[in-house]
Amino acid sequence: MIEFNHVSKKYPNGFEALKDINLTIEQGEFVAIIGLSGAGKSTLLRTINRMHDITEGSLTVDGTDVMQLRGGELRGFRRKIGMIFQSFNLVTRTRVINNVLMSKVPELSFFRALFGIYPKEDKLNALEALDKVGILDKAFVRADQLSGGQQQRVALARTLAQNPQIILADEPVASLDPVTAKQVMGDFQRINKEMNITILLNIHHVDLALQYASRVVGIRSGAIVYDGPASEVTEEI
Ligand code: ADP
Ligand code: ADP
Repeated sequence: MIEFNHVSKKYPNGFEALKDINLTIEQGEFVAIIGLSGAGKSTLLRTINRMHDITEGSLTVDGTDVMQLRGGELRGFRRKIGMIFQSFNLVTRTRVINNVLMSKVPELSFFRALFGIYPKEDKLNALEALDKVGILDKAFVRADQLSGGQQQRVALARTLAQNPQIILADEPVASLDPVTAKQVMGDFQRINKEMNITILLNIHHVDLALQYASRVVGIRSGAIVYDGPASEVTEEI
């Protein structure tokens, strides 16, 4: 469970990007965060794994106070949380399977990924993750030979191989064409249902949010202006 309790966040320049956020997300929910560019979606998402610090209120994940985590504890905590970006963040000059294997032992991952030095068990696990997102046949292809949609699926497989409890996805379909965007949203939906992984996804396409997520949170100028089931969104947010 993710719990925001009167959370605010000011950037060092004094700009208040989050204002008194109260939000509870249960394990296994699929939540789309919608709002205009600059509304605070990305900031909100990035407080959950402490890529950004909050400046007021409290934020807990399964009862753990995120702001209290230090060093090894913080690294362990972050391993339970997968992060997906708009730009995929793959090492494009190496094979797909090595990109998925990068989720293992992050400190060594870059060199290991380049040379593919991993235990067999990890390799099987990586292949399984690729199978879950439907691109097992691309495992030994160089990442830069894939389409945008396929690259985003590799990023998703890399996150799955880390066995996350939560996946945070920051505009994961923003750079994809409409058909591919739907396929990737379908992947998130399936992973959410089949694996009970909590998914929080920032998206500026309201129609995709309504179609695939089960709950929609609308943000405007750093504050929550809507929170409810996707099926009940009628008016413009
Ligand atoms: P969104 O993801 O909804 O586009 P962001 O969370 O990226 O919005 O940004 C929210 C607001 O915070 C924007 O007005 C943005 O300019 C501002 N902002 C983002 N990062 C910083 C920063 N490092 N310092 C100051 N302001 C920032
Ligand atoms: P993107 O289009 O990739 O979401 P952003 O607009 O969020 O890019 O900004 C990229 C970087 O610039 C981020 O690190 C963000 O925190 C920072 N940033 C965004 N807006 C501001 C701002 N108003 N002042 C300072 N830094 C900002």
